[in-house]
Amino acid sequence: MEKMLNIVLFGPPGAGKGTQSENLINKYGLVHLSTGDILRTEIARGTDLGRKAKEIMERGELVGDDIVIGMIESKLDENTGAKGFIFDGFPRTAAQAVALDDLLQKKGTGISGMLALEVDDEELVKRLLIRGEASGRPDDRNEGIIRRRIEEYNNKTLPLKNYYSEQGKFHSINGIGSIDEIFRLLVDRIIFLNAEMDLTALETDLEHLDLTIQDFDVADEIAPELL
Ligand code: ADP
Repeated sequence: MEKMLNIVLFGPPGAGKGTQSENLINKYGLVHLSTGDILRTEIARGTDLGRKAKEIMERGELVGDDIVIGMIESKLDENTGAKGFIFDGFPRTAAQAVALDDLLQKKGTGISGMLALEVDDEELVKRLLIRGEASGRPDDRNEGIIRRRIEEYNNKTLPLKNYYSEQGKFHSINGIGSIDEIFRLLVDRIIFLNAEMDLTALETDLEHLDLTIQDFDVADEIAPELL
């Protein structure tokens, strides 16, 4: 199996996931899967799904798990040759995290790591209101809706920290600083993740080698000092 770099970019609304995703896809040639972007495209196209999602998003609440899991599944199927993926804004609930693991496992791969951008609530509100003025995104223009999104994040999404910690995959990144500084912190972590994956692959190769030696019963012919 080809080694894939699959990163969950994690963090509250306004943490800088979109900005840093762009930097990371440019550097590593990964496919960017942002459920927020996919949903906004559906809204712009006026599809059934888009109509359903629009109201929920404008309230600052989460769209149903089945809908977003289905969207991710079809994007994974569309990009079979990818070197890896950046998941941005997904998973956002425990059910989504479990579904993502299942989908990747079926493809013989998995999550390399979760990189979590940590930014305090007041800084988030400030950033999102500024973004709303520039972009006109309706959910960024109202402080009440912004706070509702942060609340949804704290209640439903933040617990995923534990899910990935338990798998030894959680990495905290300070999300306050310049875009370049934060990008450097992310790249340092990815160097570490790549090294970790190389090591695991090497261990697997060594295990195979061990088996081959036993299978062919050639152990006797190998110099004893090598065993
Ligand atoms: P942000 O993280 O800045 O709030 P996103 O673009 O990721 O922005 O998401 C915007 C909105 O889209 C969310 O508030 C939510 O309503 C919906 N959404 C995006 N991703 C998901 C998801 N994985 N599960 C449920 N709802 C989602």
